[in-house]
Amino acid sequence: MLTSIVGINWGDEGKGRMVDLLSADYDIVCRYQGGNNAGHTVINDLGKFILNLLPSGILREDVVNVMGNGMVIDLEHLSGEIGRLRAAGVKISPENLKISDKAIVCFPYHRLLDVLEEERLAGEAYGSTRRGISPVYGDKYMKKCIRMGDLLEKEYCHHTFSHILQYKNLTISGVYGKEPVKEEDMMQWLDKYTEEFKDYICDTTQYLNEAVKNGKRVMFEAQLGALRDIDFGIYPFTSSSSTIAAYAPIGAGVPNLKLDRVVGIMKAYSTCVGEGPFTAEWFGEEAEQLRAAGGEYGAATGRPRRVGPFDVPASRYGILVQGCDEIALTKLDVLSYMKEIPVCVRYALDGAETELFPYSAKLNRATPVIETLPGWQCDISACRKVEDLPKEALDYIRYIEKAVGCRIKYVSVGAARDEYIVMY
Ligand code: GDP
Ligand code: MG
Repeated sequence: MLTSIVGINWGDEGKGRMVDLLSADYDIVCRYQGGNNAGHTVINDLGKFILNLLPSGILREDVVNVMGNGMVIDLEHLSGEIGRLRAAGVKISPENLKISDKAIVCFPYHRLLDVLEEERLAGEAYGSTRRGISPVYGDKYMKKCIRMGDLLEKEYCHHTFSHILQYKNLTISGVYGKEPVKEEDMMQWLDKYTEEFKDYICDTTQYLNEAVKNGKRVMFEAQLGALRDIDFGIYPFTSSSSTIAAYAPIGAGVPNLKLDRVVGIMKAYSTCVGEGPFTAEWFGEEAEQLRAAGGEYGAATGRPRRVGPFDVPASRYGILVQGCDEIALTKLDVLSYMKEIPVCVRYALDGAETELFPYSAKLNRATPVIETLPGWQCDISACRKVEDLPKEALDYIRYIEKAVGCRIKYVSVGAARDEYIVMY
């Protein structure tokens, strides 16, 4: 069984918590793109964790976790993240964590370049997490990167890296007028983390193919959401990797395999971290109330998230490009305070109304068309079965399900592992 768990919206839909929940039925969990710009929150009996690089299966003792070739890995950050989890009693060893030899290393100068470029852009900034993600993916396609497998070939690695650094320093000093990065410092950084991670690096293509042949069940965990995908999202306010389910086999290392199931994680309302068009955005009092009810502050950065009502055109588009078989609708409990629940059902654009998600540059002119549904105005966080839900909550779920055209299999009503309902 090969399943992908993906985001339908702008990210932060609750992918981490759903991977933590659904990975009970899987042997392997793979992250297949992105880096430590992810913030996947998991709350279970071990505590509360925010995972940036590690797959969310890491909290289950019998699950093997794979960091795929599609990822960019800041080794310093990974070291800290593993340290924090170990301090909380989580066991991490080469037995339950495998890092692809083809994954890309994200260096401290990638972080630096991310900050320098956002500062140069000033009012036009992309709203980056400033963790080096777009500079390092840029370098990947320029072929100016070190991959994890290179760390195991010290002489080759130092030789190649020395040339890469000369090239990068041309940008750091020539474009941004900053002090060049010292080769000696970076070599020390490399050697330190090579020592720490050498036993985790392996050919994950081989490993996963073998595992699948032996009947192991694999879950692929995406970062961010469809609307932040580099190709299909709101470019250039996207991330720099493919967040799409179809990329999962490639980014995980098994491009020869096909997915059996795609579960889309979709929030019961809209949130968005960072810049870019966000058509149904709320401001002022209305926004403050929803942000406070949902605790909408970035898991990776602490930034207040932009918020708004559920967006049908954006979510339908997200479901289309993800190729979802079923949906997990998260954070329904957050809407409990509303007397009436607004939903963005269409966009008004250039004198007409549309149900389709427009090309990104056109989105700047779109405005939301709102319909309102009755709220339930009671606490639903203890509901565990469909029958427990108030009629208005069930009507809201069914309305959304019909509007987006995909079955809502799970609904979550709280952040902890068991706070969810199976709808079918
Ligand atoms: P991810 O990046 O998609 O994994 O999502 P994040 O972890 O960034 O954001 C989701 C936030 O919502 C986290 O703080 C979760 O603990 C929280 N959360 C997830 N599901 C629910 C839910 O059903 N109800 C409530 N109230 N919070 C939830
Ligand atoms: Mg997040």
